[in-house]
Order: sequence, then structure tokens, then C-alpha cells
Amino acid sequence: MTDTDASAAGRSDGDAPALPADLNAFRGALVEWYEADHRDFPWRRTEDPYEILVSEVMSQQTQLERVVPAWEEFLEEWPTSADLAAADRSDVVAFWSSHSLGYNNRAKYLHEAAGQVETEYGGAFPESPDELAELMGVGPYTANAVASFAFNAGDAVVDTNVKRVLHRAVAVPDDDDAFERVASRVMPDGESRVWNNAIMELGGVACGKQPRCDEAGCPWRERCHAYQTGDFTAPDVPTQPSFEGSRRQFRGRVVRLLGEHDEMEIDALGHRIRVDYAPDGEHGREWLRGLLTDLADDGLVRVEEADGRLTARLR
Ligand code: SF4
Repeated sequence: MTDTDASAAGRSDGDAPALPADLNAFRGALVEWYEADHRDFPWRRTEDPYEILVSEVMSQQTQLERVVPAWEEFLEEWPTSADLAAADRSDVVAFWSSHSLGYNNRAKYLHEAAGQVETEYGGAFPESPDELAELMGVGPYTANAVASFAFNAGDAVVDTNVKRVLHRAVAVPDDDDAFERVASRVMPDGESRVWNNAIMELGGVACGKQPRCDEAGCPWRERCHAYQTGDFTAPDVPTQPSFEGSRRQFRGRVVRLLGEHDEMEIDALGHRIRVDYAPDGEHGREWLRGLLTDLADDGLVRVEEADGRLTARLR
């Protein structure tokens, strides 16, 4: 852990919460989860700033699945920023509207930006978010995305998905400054490419408005504030999302309680997670064993039986 990491971990900053004490493990778990499996968009396989800029501009108003064929065709037509700069603007705009990519102004700005790269930067994209934001039509978010994904030189992305993830996982209050501060502390230094991809993927496939913590194998379940409290509201999810039953909340409570105790005997655990727990009742040992078996299958919990005592602990 670097000095910066050590001072950020476990520290509370004004209205922002304390970060997990094991910040490096927290970060590593997400990167590992992302690298093991993620949606394979073609722009995630390139580090070419022009190709990434085109994908970012197209994604502003169009669903990612629909962007893929348009992006591929666009790059076949104009493979480099030099080709785009030399194109007729009306052709670029015609491409944009025929592929229903949203405001035609975006096509005009993209064409203009390609021209700037050629004339002002000698054909080589600038690398910093500030310089990229000087390009026509490139706002701070897009500039940072290109700096991250092309040059690994960006800041932490803070978009709606990232806010939702940070609000739930580390209880960041709904405040833009707090989100900015926590997002940049959580991101490992010099890792903007993989980190921004990973946290946005988490927000896209696991921590959506309707969270899929267990189904998506979220790597932060053991540490996640929402998972442990059962409160899955977020800035863009003002009311509690409905789940299939409340199983996820009970799983979260088990994980939280086991985090506070070395090990717990199954009935003691049952009484702590639900008021209607009765060892031989409908929501009793059998029900709890099922829950614990799922958690054990997910690698979160270990269940042990010795001398007729059944106990559970976090792995
Ligand atoms: S455990 Fe669930 S709520 Fe928490 S970060 Fe993961 S997906 Fe989001």
C-alpha cells in the first residue's frame, strides 16, 4: 500500500464516509472481477484515441448494443482522424442520421474535432483530460473517458452508474463534491483505464437500479453497506427497488453479522437476522441452512459442524 493509499483507507472526509480499511483488497477484488469476465465491446479492445472518441460520442444517446455496428461501419468509412478530417461534413452528418445516432450536431463536432487534431496537434491526439476537452464538442466526461481508455491518464469517472455504486457500497452521501472526492480516492493511482472500466461495468451489470448482487457475483458484497443493511436506494433510485422475495436482504444481514463475529452458532445467527426465526419453524434452521449453503457456494461463508454444533463464519 502506498502512503496515499494508507492515508485514504479508513479515513472519513467531512461529509464523505470512511473508505474500507483494506482499500487495496477492495480495489483488487473489483479489478479481478472485471478482468475475469465483462461485456466485450469492441472499443474495449483498442487504445486508439480516435476510435475511443467515436465510441464515446456515439454512446451519448444510443444504447451500447446499437452503437457496435454503427461504430464498426463508421471506422470502415473513416478509419483515422485524418480520414474523418478530410471527409465531407455532409457525408458524416448523413451517416449519423441514417444510423439514428441522435443530434446531428454531434457528427459536426466530431468532424470538427478530427480537423483540430490534424491541424492543431499534428495528427496526434492530446493525452490529458484538459487538452482533450479543448476539442470541439468534447466535454469533461468524454475527455476523461478518452484520457483513461486510450492513455490510462484520466481521473476517476463519476457518472450516474458510478454514483449509484459508491452510494450503495461505501455510503457516499448524495453530494457531487463527496462523490468526486471518494471516487478519486478509491481509484488506484495510474490505473484509470482498468478502474474506470471496472467500476462502470459494475454499475452496468451488477449494481443497476435493480441490483443483481448475487446473480452477478458482486465482489464487494462482504463490504457493501447496502448489501449489509438491505437499503438499496441510490440517488437515481429514490425508493427501495423490489426484489424477488427478500432473500438478498437476509444474505446481506448474515454477511454483516459474520463480519462482526468470528463465528456464530446457527440459531444465534437466525435470531439476529429475523424476528420470526424459530429453529423448527418455517423460517428456521432448514431455511437458514439453505441460505448459508448458497453463501458457501458463492465462496463467502464457511459452515462447520462439530460436536452437534453448526456454526458459520466468513471465509
Ligand atoms: S453488493 Fe450489490 S449493492 Fe453492493 S456494490 Fe455490489 S451490486 Fe451494488
